[in-house]
Amino acid sequence: MRSVEPKVFLIGETRVIESELSEYLKHINAGDWTSNAPTDSEKLVEFYGRLCYRSFKPKMNPNVSKIRNSNDQYLANLEKTHHGSVLEHVNFNFVFADVSRVFTHELVRHRAGVAISQESLRYVRLDDLGQWLPTVVREDERAMTVFVNTFKELELLQKELAILYELDKVDESGKEKNFEFKKKITSAMRRIAPIGLATTIGWSANARALRWVLEMRTDPSAEEEIRFVFGKVGEIVCKRYSNLFGDFESKIVDGLPCYKPINSKV
Ligand SMILES: Cc1cc2nc3c(=O)[nH]c(=O)nc-3n(C[C@H](O)[C@H](O)[C@H](O)COP(=O)(O)OP(=O)(O)OC[C@H]3O[C@@H](n4cnc5c(N)ncnc54)[C@H](O)[C@@H]3O)c2cc1C
Repeated sequence: MRSVEPKVFLIGETRVIESELSEYLKHINAGDWTSNAPTDSEKLVEFYGRLCYRSFKPKMNPNVSKIRNSNDQYLANLEKTHHGSVLEHVNFNFVFADVSRVFTHELVRHRAGVAISQESLRYVRLDDLGQWLPTVVREDERAMTVFVNTFKELELLQKELAILYELDKVDESGKEKNFEFKKKITSAMRRIAPIGLATTIGWSANARALRWVLEMRTDPSAEEEIRFVFGKVGEIVCKRYSNLFGDFESKIVDGLPCYKPINSKV
């Protein structure tokens, strides 16, 4: 058994294909359009917003005589007017590592605008349980003993069952147990694993969905582990995409960051 702390990795983001964007802009006679967006994600959101209103420059649309030139102002206005659908064009790819199934059960409730790949405990045998414990447990020595001992016991049971089913047995010809058999047993064994065990989930979300989940899951009423993880997400995205998340403010509540936007649910 090992003690772990949930970790957040932002491993991917949406990219502009500049040559094609340029071709399209020339096609609509707006080849001189540029953006001061700090990232491709923010540039794309601005681009799709301008596409809606044909507002790459004044008078392209005879109804539009004035345009906002700066990416931060443009995105702030999209969010203020709740034109949130354009934020769905850009995605962020995360890995949440050493998170519990308590966390993943809550995360997967967010369905709109996300993609999920969860470590399979049908395939992956639990021979080394990782454990992260909430503050109420960590602060109480007696509770810690109960949690740590229970985890150790449950890890031992996994090992005992692996021996009972001879999962690692190799026959005289050097052949391992059939993989389908191992899978069936591994799947059965996970039924007596704790939902607090550390696992991994890949999670991608578009900017509109991410703004919503960040707000909800860093709220002081949310569970401690998901608050902890999304506190880290907030720190990453508010720094890296400062215009997309420019209306978010954070403050520490009960030791964890709480992110609130001016424009909720765009
Ligand atoms: C503090 C807290 C406690 C919770 N406790 C429980 C609990 O005890 N039991 C439980 O089951 N769940 C619980 N949940 C989960 C909660 O009910 C939601 O399922 C979860 O937060 C997902 O959020 P969402 O519904 O906004 O969905 P998302 O998938 O994040 O969707 C975003 C938004 O899109 C719209 N949307 C998405 N899907 C649809 C749809 N099918 N139809 C219409 N509009 C849609 C809604 O406006 C929605 O808010 C809890 C959540 C929190 C934050």
